[in-house]
Amino acid sequence: MRVLVILMCTFATGCAATFREQVSARPAGIQRSVRGELNRELLWPETKQILFVVERVEGHEPEREALDALVRLASRYGGRPASWQRHETNAPLTLEPDTSYVLVRYVGDQTSHFGVAYSELIDDHPVYVILINQEAHRKFRMLVPQAKLEEQTLVHEYGHHLGLPTQDHGYYLGGLHCVNPNCALAKPRLKAILYNAFHIVFGGHYLEDYCEECRRAIDAARKHWGESAP
Ligand SMILES: [Zn+2]
Ligand SMILES: [Zn+2]
Repeated sequence: MRVLVILMCTFATGCAATFREQVSARPAGIQRSVRGELNRELLWPETKQILFVVERVEGHEPEREALDALVRLASRYGGRPASWQRHETNAPLTLEPDTSYVLVRYVGDQTSHFGVAYSELIDDHPVYVILINQEAHRKFRMLVPQAKLEEQTLVHEYGHHLGLPTQDHGYYLGGLHCVNPNCALAKPRLKAILYNAFHIVFGGHYLEDYCEECRRAIDAARKHWGESAP
């Protein structure tokens, strides 16, 4: 009955609040998976462009539409041009100082997760890495188009690189995730799945952007950076 009520609520009003997770404090000894604060480099246009370097290590070809969508989102949040280009796996990367780099590696079943985000230093230049298991997504393409599945994971992992969500509306489960089910940073638990299944079926909406609370946190950070600029 409770599930039915929740489903009716979603159908009638789309009320994300019903499916919200509880905010949780950071458990002792747990580090943020990627960063502890919003990522100024990707959100404040101090470099000229954001370049996504795409490698296919194993498995099917990347869905180009998903990468196009990721680039549009990164440009919008980064306030500067963004683009993606293919790169031969493990070939040396020549990094330009006025460019921010995100390395997207399609690794197939080399990871058991849909996606993973971490950063590393290459020649003292921070590089934001996203691993995506495109093969794991293919198991669900009878329900959701493959490009949309990959886009949701790419936007989710990129959100971790942006430093989202902030602590005030995050909960810990395999890293910090957003309590709001209508956010690309939601962890796909039952509540978020129920909420989004209805929105996909009835509204054609996917988890392809961050929620209002995440966007407010970005606006607040930008305001702070703007005020503290010399
Ligand atoms: Zn995550
Ligand atoms: Zn959010």
